[in-house]
Amino acid sequence: MSRILVLPGDGIGPEIVDEALRVLDAAQARFGLDIELDHGLVGGAACDAEGDPLPEGTLEKARAADAILFGSIGGPKWDTLERDKRPERGLLRLRSSLGLFANLRPAILFPQLAGASSLKPEVVSGLDILIVRELTGGIYFGQPRGIKEENGERVGFNTYVYSESEMKRIARVAFDLAMQRGKRVCSVDKANVLEVTELWKEVVTEEAKAYPEIELSHMYVDNAAMQLVRAPKNFDVIVTGNLFGDILSDEAAMLTGSIGMLPSASLDENRKGLYEPCHGSAPDIAGQGLANPLATIMSLAMLMRYSLQRGDVADAIEAAVEKVLDQGLRTADIHTEGTRKVSTGEMGAAVAEALANG
Ligand code: NAD
Repeated sequence: MSRILVLPGDGIGPEIVDEALRVLDAAQARFGLDIELDHGLVGGAACDAEGDPLPEGTLEKARAADAILFGSIGGPKWDTLERDKRPERGLLRLRSSLGLFANLRPAILFPQLAGASSLKPEVVSGLDILIVRELTGGIYFGQPRGIKEENGERVGFNTYVYSESEMKRIARVAFDLAMQRGKRVCSVDKANVLEVTELWKEVVTEEAKAYPEIELSHMYVDNAAMQLVRAPKNFDVIVTGNLFGDILSDEAAMLTGSIGMLPSASLDENRKGLYEPCHGSAPDIAGQGLANPLATIMSLAMLMRYSLQRGDVADAIEAAVEKVLDQGLRTADIHTEGTRKVSTGEMGAAVAEALANG
């Protein structure tokens, strides 16, 4: 039996998670999955109910689960709370408490949506790349850090630090994932300037020896940023540190043109994971049936693939999404002339039906 904790959160979170659960029902019926669902509060909803964006009870449930399906958190209602009580803190604490060090962000562009990208359709159509970003180390966490007075002026400083073990484990995640895909990994660094990434390059190269089938390449981050818009389909898996990964994964996400289509996973050493759409809680459209649930539905597919080891179920969910796009169904954010505009619920129901009918 597998345990999934469901954390809908705020804004459009509950609406899009409901649709993913509808698809999960269809998956359970078709594949006979043995899954126990638990539910919890996080973000603003948890602040309102318990005065804490990550209540102890939610963290305990998260520790006991094999995987977490997360909606989105935040909204103007909670923006004036003191920093530690804001919804975003709940998510950051959840990630660090569970040791979710590997952030996976696929950038996939279904050919049916190639027109939504700002790049020419022939450059992006059929794009399928995976960015593996180290999530719990690097310059975002390095000590010392701060702002101090020096020689009569203020000086800001951060520390970019990675231990060999942190580099090895993220490299292994990238290699393992690449083995299930195109077997090509591009490690992104700035080894010409930063010693920490010089070591990164050395360690990644060393780790690659255990994966003779993998074709490993290295690229400086400035060049990677250019290549992502010039010829993104040349990449298969990109592995990089926290800072570069933050920027490159947003750049790659935008190649696809629609934030409502992008899933993500954050994994620990044992492949337990938190799965969530890349977008936020979209308070501007919450409660109106306008939200695109596909990023959350595809996050569920990633959950099946990486935490539950059910690549077959993941493939079937993704095929169902593609079938529905082929049928011309579109939520407002991806709607174009000649396609049929549907609500959040209609989109979820259509994917569930396509999955049930196999
Ligand atoms: P956002 O991603 O919520 O919204 C940006 C724009 O994209 C909005 O116009 C929104 O309507 C649209 N959009 C987002 N998701 C969509 C979907 N599924 N379907 C259709 N349209 C969609 O970003 P924001 O407006 O900068 O932030 C809103 C709130 O979300 C803030 O409180 C922010 O802190 C929070 N946030 C949370 C997360 C998270 O939960 N991981 C991530 C980013 C932002």
